[in-house]
Amino acid sequence: MLGLTIREVSVALREGRVSPTELCRKCLNRIKKTQHLNAYITVTEELALKQAQQAETRLLRGVPKGPLDGIPFAVKDNFCTENVKTTCASRMLKDYTPPYNATVVQKLLDQGAVLMGKTNMDEFAMGAGSTDGAFGPVKNPWSYAAPYRERTGTVPDSDWVITGGSSGGSAAAVASLTSYLALGSDTGGSTRNPGALCGVVALKPTYGLLSRHGLIPLVNSMDVPGIMTRSVSDTAIILGILQGVDVRDSTTVTAPSSLTELPEDFDVKNIRVGIPKEYHAPGMSEETLAQWSRVADLFERAGARVEQVSLPHTQHSIVCYHVLCHAEVASNMARFDGLEYGHRSEMDSSTEAMYASTRHEGFNDVVRGRILSGNYFLLKRNYQHYFLKAQKVRRLIADDFRRVFDSGIDILLTPTTLTDAARYYDFTQEDNQTRSAQDDVFTQPANMAGLPAVSVPTALSRRGLPIGLQLIGPALQDKKLLCVAQWIEQRVGFPSIGYSDDSDDSGESRDDTGLTKKEQTSAV
Ligand code: GLN
Repeated sequence: MLGLTIREVSVALREGRVSPTELCRKCLNRIKKTQHLNAYITVTEELALKQAQQAETRLLRGVPKGPLDGIPFAVKDNFCTENVKTTCASRMLKDYTPPYNATVVQKLLDQGAVLMGKTNMDEFAMGAGSTDGAFGPVKNPWSYAAPYRERTGTVPDSDWVITGGSSGGSAAAVASLTSYLALGSDTGGSTRNPGALCGVVALKPTYGLLSRHGLIPLVNSMDVPGIMTRSVSDTAIILGILQGVDVRDSTTVTAPSSLTELPEDFDVKNIRVGIPKEYHAPGMSEETLAQWSRVADLFERAGARVEQVSLPHTQHSIVCYHVLCHAEVASNMARFDGLEYGHRSEMDSSTEAMYASTRHEGFNDVVRGRILSGNYFLLKRNYQHYFLKAQKVRRLIADDFRRVFDSGIDILLTPTTLTDAARYYDFTQEDNQTRSAQDDVFTQPANMAGLPAVSVPTALSRRGLPIGLQLIGPALQDKKLLCVAQWIEQRVGFPSIGYSDDSDDSGESRDDTGLTKKEQTSAV
């Protein structure tokens, strides 16, 4: 049951082959068994069982609330959840309990989905590893799966690899089969990056297609809620539910199509696939490059036109992102002053001293560093030189994409990350401070241009870890993007995860390798 897709499990629920409470208990058990991953900050056990019970009553009466009735989901801990702690993995908000649900959370609940808990992340979504949260790092479930252990000869819990970030808890929750879908947030890659490293489908929709109401902001002009599932068609179902105008978020736009089903037999024959030459970036592994070529070849053989294109301003993207991100962070974080909500320091010799020590105690180094540099960029004497200049470069980056799509290219194919997941030890080395910035090289440009982008897992690396490829499309063509993503998914045969020690309630044990024959041949 736990390894099924949303589509499959919803049929099982409706046919009564499994009840929502049984399913909820299985997921809760699985969360307990995979506690070592640190994927969840809060597990909403009681609430989940209550919601599952209600779904059960509705399903027995034959009146489901919606297509997700009884289906477990997880939410990144920067989305507000009514009466459920929302910490942003920060000491600043460790006891914050919002009085309302984010719009996207509410929409899932309105369809009957069952909230399993809130997932771990980098503090305030700043990071690319899920190693920088106040509740400890998230471990990649694939570190415990047979392919990694056998191919690297490591024993469980030694040499584990990171999930990527910042939505690492959400990616781990979906990959380790504790939830059928999870919400992430994506400002510079935080949904796609961990999606790729944990082997799940991860969509960053067009900016404005999903409401940000109730998503605690990082960079308002780039933030979007992200969707993680185990199949592209599941992502399409969730996108169909979440998209559309919200009066509480003035940046939302009308969805161009009501999207629920993707055609199974989408034909790529006449599409034009662009390969941006600037994405041949230093630091890309041979295996990632091999996957990129392999899928480009699949397109070519199916009759698509695969062409090299140029996005000349890509090289400025990371620096530009950082100036804009830090500037918006500096103003967004100003609200956390110890007065309105969140942590308040005991130090109260003066208002200034209280502010300063509240912020010192509440935020980690990464957040404080960004506030500091953001305020520097925003100083009157620097504003024009940094912030305004970065805005102009952002426009050039967006124009690069526009030119390429205007020339008739339907979709861009790129890697999602430079390599497969790094070992925690390597990722967190002192001399590796630029690593997290480098890791966003393929994902940030889409945020700056507001474009939809999806990461699809395509293979396992030699170390037995997932590699993902990214598709980027024109604004509001999210559906077409998913059609092409599904086409790839149908052809690459990405393996589902397996745990050699796994057995569910029924005592049924999983395939020891976690890979089926067909899937093994597709591993790099
Ligand atoms: N890694 C990027 C950053 O730290 C992106 C984060 C995100 O998308 N939330 O800013």
